[in-house]
Amino acid sequence: LRRAALEKAGSDAVTADGKRIQVFANIGRPADLETALQNGAEGIGLFRTEFLYLENDHWPTEEEQADAYAKVLKAFEGKPVVIRTLDIGGDKDLPYADLPTEENPFLGHRAIRFCLSNPEIFKTQLRALLRAGVHGDLWIMFPMVENVSEIREAKSLLEEARSELEKEGHAVAQQPKVGIMIEVPAAAVTADVLAKEVDFMSIGTNDLTQYTLAADRGNERVAPLYDAAHPAVLRLVRQTCDAARQEGIITGMCGELAGDPKMTEVLVGLGLDELSMSAGTIPEVKENVRRIETAPARTLADEALTKSDPVEIRSLSGK
Ligand code: PEP
Ligand code: MG
Repeated sequence: LRRAALEKAGSDAVTADGKRIQVFANIGRPADLETALQNGAEGIGLFRTEFLYLENDHWPTEEEQADAYAKVLKAFEGKPVVIRTLDIGGDKDLPYADLPTEENPFLGHRAIRFCLSNPEIFKTQLRALLRAGVHGDLWIMFPMVENVSEIREAKSLLEEARSELEKEGHAVAQQPKVGIMIEVPAAAVTADVLAKEVDFMSIGTNDLTQYTLAADRGNERVAPLYDAAHPAVLRLVRQTCDAARQEGIITGMCGELAGDPKMTEVLVGLGLDELSMSAGTIPEVKENVRRIETAPARTLADEALTKSDPVEIRSLSGK
């Protein structure tokens, strides 16, 4: 019985009318791999790399990083592994880095902003990624992007890293996919422009929700306002999926909303191609996908976008 359940968990998630939805896992360190595989993850939709920096007493070296990335790529044997570049700043501090305190850290110098102004630190990570990428299907993802110049700058550092490595005689990933997280409202609203620069986009609803609803994701006092199923967030999700489809690229979601089983039908109806979540919810979300038909899901999502609050939206799929 256990074997049958595992086999079922491992099989693809295809809607009743034949649309494949890729169901991936979010992981925070290589040790999470086992659970992801056991639960039937078809890939990794978000590998948060902060652990390398936070659980350390020095900037992680290229070798230390390449080892960690290679472990995950090897374990997934050619299936997609989306590795997110460093998302530091905000509420995360590095004892060895002496980062200045900011009054509004979530609106401050975090993630891609930090990386672009610290190119040496960023390039060490990009070099490690390119080296590890020979072991599998590497997708590189930049967090907190809000404009085209950031993407171009990051891509040019990636190219610099590649040519350095090649000159030094290292083997490097030939064609890693390069994408961005959509977690700032500005990025969702201009997704049509950003989509032209990348191979994929993945919606980070945890941050997108806090920025759209002006509700700090960690502040208990505004927790009742913080709900990713808010129609304003869902409208941004629809806008992003439509823009990606126009450009022929895929849209994933790797924020917590992706793993909310009550929202699977709405999310498929909004146009997402890939959902990435904590491993534990993968089997249930896959089961949901198999019951869905895309046309009614689209109608349901259209209806969700007309609602005024998240409670109404969550109750829709229960009908
Ligand atoms: C997000 O913001 O939705 C996300 C997945 O990134 P993190 O939770 O690491 O900020
Ligand atoms: Mg985020």
